[in-house]
Amino acid sequence: MEKRPFTELGLAPELLKAVDKMGFEEASPIQTAVIPVALTGRDVVGQSATGSGKTAAFAVPAITRVDSHLKAVQVLVLCPTRELAVQVAEEVGKLSLFKRGVHAVPIYGGQSYERQFRALAAGVQIVIGTPGRVMDHMERGTLKLDALKLVILDEADRMLDMGFRDDIEHILSRSPATRQSLFFSATMPRAIQELISRYSKDPAWIKIEAHAKNAPQVDQVYFEVDRRTKIDVLTRLIDLYDFRYGIIFCSTKIMVDELDEHLHARGYATDRLHGDISQAQRDRVMDKFRRRGFEFLVATDVAARGLDLDDLEVVFNFDLPNDAEDYTHRIGRTGRAGKTGKAFTFVSGRDLWKLQSMVRFAKLKIRRENVPSLDQVEEARANLFFEKLRTTLDQATYRKQDRLIDRLLEQGYASTDICSALIHLLQGGETAADPAPTPAAKPERKALPPAEADAEARPIPAVAPVGGADEPAPRAPRALEAPKARPAPREAYAPASRTGKDPGFTTVFLNVGRKNLVTPADVVGKIAGVTRLPAQIVGAIDIRQRHTLVDVVDEHAAFVLEKLKGIRVKGQALVPALATEKDAATE
Ligand code: ADP
Ligand code: MG
Repeated sequence: MEKRPFTELGLAPELLKAVDKMGFEEASPIQTAVIPVALTGRDVVGQSATGSGKTAAFAVPAITRVDSHLKAVQVLVLCPTRELAVQVAEEVGKLSLFKRGVHAVPIYGGQSYERQFRALAAGVQIVIGTPGRVMDHMERGTLKLDALKLVILDEADRMLDMGFRDDIEHILSRSPATRQSLFFSATMPRAIQELISRYSKDPAWIKIEAHAKNAPQVDQVYFEVDRRTKIDVLTRLIDLYDFRYGIIFCSTKIMVDELDEHLHARGYATDRLHGDISQAQRDRVMDKFRRRGFEFLVATDVAARGLDLDDLEVVFNFDLPNDAEDYTHRIGRTGRAGKTGKAFTFVSGRDLWKLQSMVRFAKLKIRRENVPSLDQVEEARANLFFEKLRTTLDQATYRKQDRLIDRLLEQGYASTDICSALIHLLQGGETAADPAPTPAAKPERKALPPAEADAEARPIPAVAPVGGADEPAPRAPRALEAPKARPAPREAYAPASRTGKDPGFTTVFLNVGRKNLVTPADVVGKIAGVTRLPAQIVGAIDIRQRHTLVDVVDEHAAFVLEKLKGIRVKGQALVPALATEKDAATE
C-alpha cells in the first residue's frame, strides 16, 4: 500500500496548508491513488476499507475544483446519513480553511428547511446532503445544479442498502452531463457497478486492498482473563516481556481514563487518548509518544485511528475490538519494518465467541496462551537483573566503594550478606530504621498479586491521586530493568556525595531538607507524580540540612521546575530553582 507525502500529489498551497494544520503527515493509500487522478478531471471509482481516509480523497479535489468567485453550487456530495453529512461537511470545512470564499453546507432531513434555504440562497458552492433531502430541494427549486462540476457518492453501498437508489438516479440524471463523478464504496456489489456504468465516463478504478497482503508480522496471542484481573495480567505481561513502547486499546473513554490512572499509579509511564480530549492535547500526547516520552499509550479506537505510528513493541487489546477490521487496524501498528511485533488480546466471558467469529471471518492467526504465573514473571525479572549486574561488573563502569565495604567487613558482616542487603535496597526494600516509610518507596511493579484468586479480595485499587499535591503517585524506579537506550536509573536512593554536575543532568534546588525529614523517595515520588514522567529522569538526590539538590535529565528540567512550584512536600510549599554554586557549597 503506497503512501506519499501530500506535497507530491499536486495540491494547491492553501490545501497543503490545511492538510498540515489537520495534522496529516502523509496521504493514505486511497488518497495517494485518488487525488492526482481526480485532479485531472477524470471520473474515479474508489474502493477501500472504512477509516482509510476516503473523505479527504474526494474533498481535496472537490475544494480544488471550486471557483470561489462563483456563488453557485459546484460540488454535490451524497451521503447515506445526516451524521455522515455533518462529518463530511466538517472535514470539508477544515480542508477549505485557507481557500477564501469557499462555503460548504450539510443538508439533511430533520433540519429546518428555513435554515437550509438561507444557506443555499447565500451561494454555497459545496452541498453535502442525504439523497432524500437533496431531491426535495431540487424539486422546490431551492437547489440548482446547472453549475455543478462534480458529483460525489460517499458510501454508495450503504446508500443503496438504505433504499436510496431511485433518489440517487434521479439526482444523477438531472446533473449536467459535463460533470465529473466520483464514487466511493467499501464494497462493490453488482447494483453499484451498474449504477457506475450508467452514470460515469471511463472511470479509473482504484481499489486499495485491505491489510491482508501486507499483513505485518505480528505474533498474535489471546488470553482468557477474568474481567477483574485484567489490569494485573496486563502489568504481568508488560513486566515479563519488559515492554517499553506500546499501545493499550480499550473500548470506552471511561476505561481509558481508569486504566491510565491505574497504570500510572503502579509506576508505569502512561498517557491517554480518547475522543473527549481536545485536539491540541491529543497532538501533545502523540508528539510525546513519538519521542518516547512515555511508555504506553492507552487509547480508544477512534482516538488512535489515523495515527501513524511505527515500531511499537506491543499492542494490547485490553478490551476486544468490535470487529476483525478494527482488530487488524490495531495490531497493524506493531511489527512494522520487518520486525516481529506482539499483539496480546484479552478475552473475558462472552468475548470468546466474538473472537472466534472474528478468527473465522478474517482468518486470524491467533493462538491461546495461559496467563503467565507470578513465578515466571519473577524469574524473568531475576534474569534481567542478573544480566544487568553481570554487564556492570564486566564493564567495570561503577564507582569503587572500597571504604564503605571495608568498614562493613571490619564490623563482621559477610560479603554475601552485604550484597544481598544492597540488592534489597536497590529493589526498593525498606530499612527497618526508615523514619517514615512512604508509599513511594515501594516499587509497585514488584507487588503483583498472586494470581487471579487474589483479585477478588483486592479488586481494582482506588485510583491513586495522580499528580496530587498531598500524596505522590507511588512511582519508584524500576530497579530491575534491563540496560536499554534510556537514561539509566542512577543511584537515586544512595546517600549522595555529590562531586558536581553530571553531564546530561541539570541540578535543581528544592527548599526542603533533612530538617523537614525529606527522603529521596519523597522527592522521586513527588517529581514522578506531578510531572507524570518516569522516575528515571531523576538522577542523584542530595539531601542537605535545609535544602535538597536533585539531578534531573536536562530536557525535562524546565518542566519539572514549573510543575513542582507550590507543591507541598512534608507540609512545606516548594519554591524550586536551578541550583547555584552556593547551594552546592552549603551543607
Ligand atoms: P473513510 O471515509 O475511508 O472511512 P475517513 O475519511 O472518515 O475514512 O478517515 C478516517 C480518519 O482518518 C479520520 O479521522 C480522518 O481525519 C483521518 N485521516 C484521513 N486521512 C488521513 C491522513 N492522511 N493522515 C492521518 N489521518 C487521516
Ligand atoms: Mg467515509
